[in-house]
Amino acid sequence: MGIKQDMELKKRQKVVKKIKKVVIKIGTNVLTSPGHYLDTSLMEHLGQQICQLMDEGKKVVIVTSGAIGAGMQILGWKKRPKKMEKLQAAASVGQSRLMRFYERIFREEGYNVGQVLLTRDIFESKQRRKNALSTLETLLTHKIIPVINENDAVAFEEIRFGDNDILSAMVVELIDADALILLTDVDGLYDADPKNNGKVKLISEVTGISEKLLSIAKSGSPSRLGSGGMVSKLTAMKKVLSMGCVGFIANGRRPWVIRDIFSGKKIGTIFLPGEKL
Ligand code: GLU
Repeated sequence: MGIKQDMELKKRQKVVKKIKKVVIKIGTNVLTSPGHYLDTSLMEHLGQQICQLMDEGKKVVIVTSGAIGAGMQILGWKKRPKKMEKLQAAASVGQSRLMRFYERIFREEGYNVGQVLLTRDIFESKQRRKNALSTLETLLTHKIIPVINENDAVAFEEIRFGDNDILSAMVVELIDADALILLTDVDGLYDADPKNNGKVKLISEVTGISEKLLSIAKSGSPSRLGSGGMVSKLTAMKKVLSMGCVGFIANGRRPWVIRDIFSGKKIGTIFLPGEKL
């Protein structure tokens, strides 16, 4: 291993060692395989790695997408509906299927999960924020894994987050987590949109989010099933970095992605808050 790589490894190892409480967001395109089927073997693999973190005494909160995708699968809807009420119906059907899988996967590893569905207004009311926080803290104290999603079935425009990237950053702030991991279907942040350009380079480390970075992301294509693209991921990262936390964007379909992030391997993109570390 070259000196530069060795230094990068040591730096990442130093950063990840400090992570005691982490929010892991699993995107729709990770959870569903083409054809919108929930990829249960992938969910199991991610679950296994999350349990490993729990066994090590870390606190893990999952923010899951995939409810709408799973609902579409069950209902046989091939194309993502445009009408809000149809999206909400799909989410309502899919959310329970999603939870059934999480419940089974974690149960097998000896952990319970707790479903927490949130809307934006909860974060805007001091009392409701406090209630949400105490529920999450109680779950974590009892080693129960909170599985959060937006309450899509009832969220209308004014109280919607719109996508779970922003929701996960708000959860990081709420529970005072140390890190946010966004698992998606690309390897991390590229210097150009990988879907439109053949020659792109993965950016392995980002310190702070500049306007230039945001503009690269804005030129990218929207994702297949989920609602958040790179812009919302970088917006979420910007929020997390402003709190002095670290962030990662990595490919949730890569085998052992979570384990490898926590062993300091150079995968995905690491986001550092700058001089605070
Ligand atoms: N809450 C939506 C779902 O579970 C996903 C939102 C997003 O794509 O980030 O299907």
